[in-house]
This record gives sequence, C-alpha cells and structure tokens, in this order.
Amino acid sequence: AENRYRQNHPNSQNLHEKAIGILPGGNTRSVLHTDPFPIYMDRGEGNRLIDVDGHEYLDLVGEMTAGVCGHSNPIIRDAIISTTTKTGLNLGATTAAEASFAEKIRNRFPSMERMRFCNSGTEANLYALSLARQATGLNKVIVFNGGYHGGVLMFLHGVAENTVDKNDWVVGTYNDEEGVQRLISDNKGIAAAVLVEGMQGAGGCIPGSVKFLHSIQKATKENGMIFIMDEVMTSRLAPGGLQSTIIDPQGNAPLKPDITTLGKYIAGGMTIGVFGGRKELLSLYDPRPFSESNVQKQPAQMSHSGTFNNNTLAMHVGLVALSAVYTPEVCTKLNALGDWFRQELLDRCRGTRMTVTGVGAVCNIHFGGSHEDGLEILRIEDLNARRSIDDSVLGDIFWFRAVQKGFWIARRGMLALTMGTTRAELQGFLDFVEDI
Ligand code: PMP
Repeated sequence: AENRYRQNHPNSQNLHEKAIGILPGGNTRSVLHTDPFPIYMDRGEGNRLIDVDGHEYLDLVGEMTAGVCGHSNPIIRDAIISTTTKTGLNLGATTAAEASFAEKIRNRFPSMERMRFCNSGTEANLYALSLARQATGLNKVIVFNGGYHGGVLMFLHGVAENTVDKNDWVVGTYNDEEGVQRLISDNKGIAAAVLVEGMQGAGGCIPGSVKFLHSIQKATKENGMIFIMDEVMTSRLAPGGLQSTIIDPQGNAPLKPDITTLGKYIAGGMTIGVFGGRKELLSLYDPRPFSESNVQKQPAQMSHSGTFNNNTLAMHVGLVALSAVYTPEVCTKLNALGDWFRQELLDRCRGTRMTVTGVGAVCNIHFGGSHEDGLEILRIEDLNARRSIDDSVLGDIFWFRAVQKGFWIARRGMLALTMGTTRAELQGFLDFVEDI
C-alpha cells in the first residue's frame, strides 16, 4: 500500500522534499505529518478535497471538527467578501459585531453569561486558566489522562507535554467516577480549577460519563474550585454544546460549568477562541472601575489583550455562521446522521480488530481492539489499556487503503462529518469498511 502511495503522489513527495529544507520535517502542524510524506492538498470544495496530484477525496476529517461548515459554503464566502469590502480588516477599535456575535453565542450556551474572544482554542484555555488562578489565588490545575486542551496543554500520555510548567498539573484518570471526588477534595486549597473535555477528542473520542462530569461539577463547587469545560471540539455536537445534553439524573439539570471554552468552527472557519462563564468571574476583566456591573467593585484585576481578539472577519463571519449556516436545526440533523453512521460503522467492526467510539458526527476508529473492547472503553476509559491494544500497523494499512479509495480520514482514525454530507456518501465509506 505504501509503494502505491508513493507512485500515486509524486507532486506531494516533491513538495515535501522542498519543505523539509525550511520547516522541521517539512511540517508546521505536527498532527498532519504522515510517513513517508504527507499528501499536499490543492483545494477544497464543500466536503471534497483535491490533492496536488489531482486525486479527489470525500473529506471525513472536516479539519479535525473545525470545518463543519465545509470548504466553500456560499453564505460564509459572502460574509468574508462583504466584511473585506464593506468593513475592512481589523479596525483597531471596538465594533458592533463583537457584542452581537457574543449574544448569539450566549443564546446557544447560556452558562456563558459573559465572554471574551481570542484567537485559538489553546489561547481560550490559557486565559480560562489564568482567570481561575486569579479568582482563587491558587496555582495547580486538575486535568485528565488523555486530555488535550491545545498545543501547550497536552496530557495525551498521562503527563504534561509541551506545557510551560510541568509542576502546575495534577493528572487524574478520565471517567474515574469514584476517584474524581477524592482527587478534587484532596486538592482543596491547592488547585484552582478542574479543566476537562466532555468527550476526549484528540484522546480518541471517548465520551465522558454523566456521573463523572456531574461529580466534577458538584465537587468543584464544594471545594472552592472553578469548573472549566473545554468545549472547543464538543460544542458542535448539540445546539447548546455537549454540556446541554449531560443531564444530572437526580437534579434533572444539564451541566453548568463556571467557565466554558470554545474555538474551532464557532466563527465559521475563521481563527477564533472564546472563553466565558459566570459573570462574577468574567468581571475580573471589566475595565470600568467601580461600575454597577463590576461585581468586584474595584478596577479590573486582569488585562486581556490581543491584536486580533475582535478581528472583523471572525466577528462577522462567526455571527453569520451561527445565525444562518450551522443553525440549531442543521446541527441536530448532522449529529443524528453521525449517530446513525457510527452505529453502522460499529456493526461492521463486529468480529474484527477494530472498534469505534464517539458522539454525534465526531468519532474515532480504534485499531487493534475488538468490538467488545470498544464497549469496555466507554466504561473504563483507561487510555493506557487502549494504548496497550493499539495496533498501528493495522491503522496504517486502513489509512493507506482509505486514501487510495478517495476517503480522507485522520491518520489516527478520527472522523468528523461536514454539513451537507449525505447518507449515500457515508454508505460508500461503510461499503469500503465492509470490503476491507
Ligand atoms: N481543546 C480541544 C478539546 C481541542 O480539540 C483543541 C484543538 N484540537 C484545542 C483545545 C486547541 O484549539 P486550537 O487548535 O484552536 O488552539
């Protein structure tokens, strides 16, 4: 399969050989590297990608969930054009669009009573953490094995990778329903916050259990910690984000994190990060001293700068994307299609050494486990157990064959559906899996 790959992609190979002379490994985004060389894409149209050797693919990566609106949505394109022609780029001043966009977000995610914009999901999480540290006067943060919160906030192998200070973290076990309460109470007065994904995305699309996530919410409240839910990836899984679907069986209420972080698709494909939550917390950024709504009744304790925080493209296109493109109806429909697709995929994995986990239109094929192991993963979530069964050779063979058949999937087996993708297109992928 690898030989055929080399033969079919000479232009990609040439471009890679040139790039390695200027970019380390020819690459500026680690996740996109593939041996022997990555495929270079030329362009995207809707849910299709065309590479530099002229091959066309059904895009099942969907820009790792950020590309849910597709590559050439006409409403998004018009919003980009009208912003650049009527408004101009980044005015270096406050504009009306930022409050309108924020209001649109709050309508969907009511726990975000006040919010601020930045430029990436990584940045949103970094700001959320500084806010929690300032509000509590504490330093450490509880995160979970398999968690991914950005390029400098990675815990995929159970330890802090690329983070600024390795001593800042307490790394717990994801979905450890029993242990998490103790973990939080043991760190009372030490940890400022718990930072968690409702479904671990880069960690393999492992859904968090209702009990685990509600235990975090309850225990953080009881122990003076801030509950930060990273919805950078998961907010696309329901109109109100994953938090709106995780209902406490006793109180009958959805999750209400103190702070939520967003990014990826939320500005229709423009660069974006958002952090928001309880208004008392966000008031630490209120620049008006002694104002009514400044609950702290003192000058802003924190400054939040950033040249592109309110850039006109992200603000305008984001508003349009949430109002007219990735609407609640479109979101619900796409995730229902994703639930159907994942179940069909799981059925085809029966009796093989593959399994599938995920929520709605975002899922991950795991290689080397079995169907039963997959169901077990949902219960015990232990990343190390999953790694111990991980068969990267099987994963590689699957990836090479998928690409050859015109299906663009992430090398690690992740799939994120783009709006407009049809059941017939997905059926094509299911048939491929059946044949393989
Ligand atoms: N949090 C989660 C859950 C993510 O999946 C990602 C991106 N994969 C990030 C944060 C970081 O976002 P960005 O790449 O925009 O910095």
